[in-house]
Amino acid sequence: MLCAFNPFTYTRSFSANCYYLPVCKRPNLFLLTEATVKEIVIEYEGEKCAARGVLVRCDGEDFIVRASREVVLSAGSIQSPQLLELSGIGNPEILKAAGIEAKVCNPNVGENLQDHFMTKTVYEVQTPPDSEGSDLPPSQTVGSPVEISNIKAPAKAYLPCPVAYCPIFKMVTSQELAGLTAHIRQKIMESKDVREAKLRQSFLPGKMLGAVEFVWDGEANWNPDFKGEPGKRYGTLLQMLQYPFSRGSVHIQPMRGSKATTIDDKPTIDPRYFAGDGKIDFEVMKAGPDIR
Ligand SMILES: Cc1cc2nc3c(=O)[nH]c(=O)nc-3n(C[C@H](O)[C@H](O)[C@H](O)COP(=O)(O)OP(=O)(O)OC[C@H]3O[C@@H](n4cnc5c(N)ncnc54)[C@H](O)[C@@H]3O)c2cc1C
Repeated sequence: MLCAFNPFTYTRSFSANCYYLPVCKRPNLFLLTEATVKEIVIEYEGEKCAARGVLVRCDGEDFIVRASREVVLSAGSIQSPQLLELSGIGNPEILKAAGIEAKVCNPNVGENLQDHFMTKTVYEVQTPPDSEGSDLPPSQTVGSPVEISNIKAPAKAYLPCPVAYCPIFKMVTSQELAGLTAHIRQKIMESKDVREAKLRQSFLPGKMLGAVEFVWDGEANWNPDFKGEPGKRYGTLLQMLQYPFSRGSVHIQPMRGSKATTIDDKPTIDPRYFAGDGKIDFEVMKAGPDIR
């Protein structure tokens, strides 16, 4: 089963061919590749600050790209908060520890990190008698670029594919669910946050919200610690939490010595898995393999 690319053109969908190529001829579009934004240029206008451009490193040189209208920050869930903090937007204590002048105080920057973490269970699988296996070498099915162009049509391979999104009440007994939902209901009543309350509804009986996504990869062993026996085939069931309660953070590091933290210092990611309300995540992930 090949489900990650166009079955007619045998090309994969990725950001360049889907988002860039169709519009690349527009005269008002310029894409600078191999460039690293070091910080957003924040300028004071009276007492207020405004983002006026970005400081960019490209080909070993730093220069400022000024915005005529606005700066859109979309550096992903890890590097967006990193760039905000490097630019002086965030919790003043964290900025001070990193040696960065606080321009906009906002203690929410870098907080509330949520991760759809997953577990991987490896199963020994039988090779169907009429199957010659995949056209993809096993090493290319996971974690490395798949050379689709080398495959002769009709291609035959088994790429990871979602097989089910399961509501929590399909994974635990009604007694266990009652225990969980009593706790969750109490939380819903307590929470003033509309979004939190909505997330928590995934645990209510009858709500068909898929709490866990199951992905089956029938051709690969995803566990780096598990060494299969020669001649045997293995598949991996991935179980991914969709509505995590664990709340973590991502922040820039404190300065080392007298040198202020820069884009070259990796941010510190603390997912706080299973901490606080995240204990519920543990119960849900534990229940996953018992799906009914
Ligand atoms: C393993 C995995 C599986 C996923 N599966 C799905 C799925 O099946 N369906 C789905 O809808 N979503 C899925 N997602 C989520 C999806 O990939 C993200 O929601 C989406 O990519 C976010 O897009 P974005 O543009 O905000 O950030 P990103 O895609 O993270 O893009 C941020 C870009 O900014 C660049 N950048 C960062 N810092 C700098 C800097 N300082 N200077 C210059 N460039 C910088 C990065 O290199 C990156 O190219 C998955 C994510 C992961 C990690």
